Amino acid sequence: MCGIVGYVGKQNAVSIILEGLKRLEYRGYDSAGVCVEKGRKLDLVKKAGRVDNLAKAVAKHRLAGTTGIGHTRWATHGGVTDENAHPHVSSDEKFALIHNGVIENYAQIKTFLSGKGYTFQSETDTEVLCNLIAYHYAKEPARTKGHSRFVESVRKTLRHVEGTYGIAVLCVDFPGEIVGARKASPLILGVGDNEYILASDASALVSRTQNVVYLKDGEIVHLTPKNFSISTLDQADVSPVVDKITWSIADSELGKHTHFMEKEIFEQPTALENAMRGRFSADGSTAQFGGLNITASEFREMERFMFCACGTAWHACLVTEHLIERFARIPVEVDYASEFRYRNSPLDARTLFFVMSQSGETIDTLAALREAKRKGYRVMAVNNVVGSSIAREADGGIYQHVGPEVGVASTKAFTSQLLIGAMIALYVARMRDMSFSDGVGYVNALKGAPDLVRKTLKQAAKIKVIAKKYAGYNDMLFLGRLSLFPLALEGALKLKEISYIHAEGYPAAEMKHGPIALVSEKCPSVFFAPKGEIFSKIVSSMQEIKARKGPIIAITTEGSDLPKGVADDVIEIPECHEAVLPIVAAIPIQLLSYYIAVERGCDVDKPRNLAKSVTVE
Ligand code: GLU
Repeated sequence: MCGIVGYVGKQNAVSIILEGLKRLEYRGYDSAGVCVEKGRKLDLVKKAGRVDNLAKAVAKHRLAGTTGIGHTRWATHGGVTDENAHPHVSSDEKFALIHNGVIENYAQIKTFLSGKGYTFQSETDTEVLCNLIAYHYAKEPARTKGHSRFVESVRKTLRHVEGTYGIAVLCVDFPGEIVGARKASPLILGVGDNEYILASDASALVSRTQNVVYLKDGEIVHLTPKNFSISTLDQADVSPVVDKITWSIADSELGKHTHFMEKEIFEQPTALENAMRGRFSADGSTAQFGGLNITASEFREMERFMFCACGTAWHACLVTEHLIERFARIPVEVDYASEFRYRNSPLDARTLFFVMSQSGETIDTLAALREAKRKGYRVMAVNNVVGSSIAREADGGIYQHVGPEVGVASTKAFTSQLLIGAMIALYVARMRDMSFSDGVGYVNALKGAPDLVRKTLKQAAKIKVIAKKYAGYNDMLFLGRLSLFPLALEGALKLKEISYIHAEGYPAAEMKHGPIALVSEKCPSVFFAPKGEIFSKIVSSMQEIKARKGPIIAITTEGSDLPKGVADDVIEIPECHEAVLPIVAAIPIQLLSYYIAVERGCDVDKPRNLAKSVTVE
């Protein structure tokens, strides 16, 4: 959450920062601001609202400069106002600062600084950081041998701070310089041609350079017009490693689509192909992963798996649990990362720990990973963003390889997590009881998934018509069983997050134990009713809803013999292998919620109160 950009170079910093903010806007869109340093003064424009709003104000103000910082905010401390927008300026007007994260001891620091005569314009936790730097700067000897006074003041400040931060700071006494630092909030450095860009993620800088340094927790970066250096909070020098981003700016452009969510839904066949590329054994009977850093025999020794994640990724973990238990017969536990980190849950010795997070920066998931490692467990990560904090801190992992996901509501990241979960189940099952021929059948089914998704996407026009019919309702139920119960949860989440319709997901048979009280002609139900062992049970649940006048949308497999009249609307998906079914079943609920949200005039890619990459607790 929160997007930050800093620029040092020879070009117009303002337009580069605004372009970067536009690309980071999915991380937060409560307010935005830019500050440049100009003739030993700070020039600042900040506004509540979107980056477009800021761009107008910036043009009116004729803001210009070659060194600057910019921010797009997801408010944690203090309302959505111009005053609370970042950048914040210290009360002596020497420093400007942008921040992603939460300063937990801000109240104590504020009291301390107020006693020293520092004043505050906002209600944010961030502003105290800026004034604490000014305080340390005033105390710092003007000449600190071998070290910049600017950097040392930031370093001293950060030693007193509890909480999380990704920051970039300007100082009027150091024209053309920026100091950045991070702790549990992402920050990367783009190394361009005579220019440096600091940003929360690569999308903000990939149009200018593909060379990046992923900063680590506890590191401070110092940018000057000529070079950059990295050191730690303890003043140790760090030799930077420059990595190359493997995707280009075109991957994060909208193209012919109206919304990123729409683009990403339709990208799923290719995304799935990318996620499985090179990951099947030469004999075609199992999965293989390059980055697990655990031998097959160590994997074989594990007696239990624990998965932690948040939101949509948590739903992907629930499906993975079903598939691993079903095919590999190993007990799996799934927990919310936010709960696990404080729950102190007992784990068996031979437990392999997995975390799933698209961004690899989700703070709760990162904390769960650290807690598991602290207890001595090996942790594997499933994550999409190369070089993310989770990818770096895990003992091993599997990248999703689906390119940048910009829409706040996850789609292609979700189905690729389902695919990787299905591949983990296969890998473990083949180490245990699954036969060679069953393995080959499973692999071929996974290889066929992209085409089945393509086929399902062809129903978009039909689903759009159904969506129009249901867009006016205020409540909806999503019901599914077995591996499609987590899809019911995901359907309800997708609908509520982008269309603001109240929705709940339940195992279909649980409906009788409470939620059926909601059913009436005003509360439709979306049923997953695929062919299979318990098809008739699901049909009975549908009849129970119909008997109470509840409208029904059924998502069923082709040729399922759904009794006539039991559903008001039917969406057919192709028949498929059990491991592929959840992937294919995800498509209609994504399209349904997308078209309903569009019909209701909602801002699909930037739903209210939400942001992607949840880097605050
Ligand atoms: N705590 C800061 C604020 O509320 C930054 C929030 C964030 O990173 O999401 O302004």
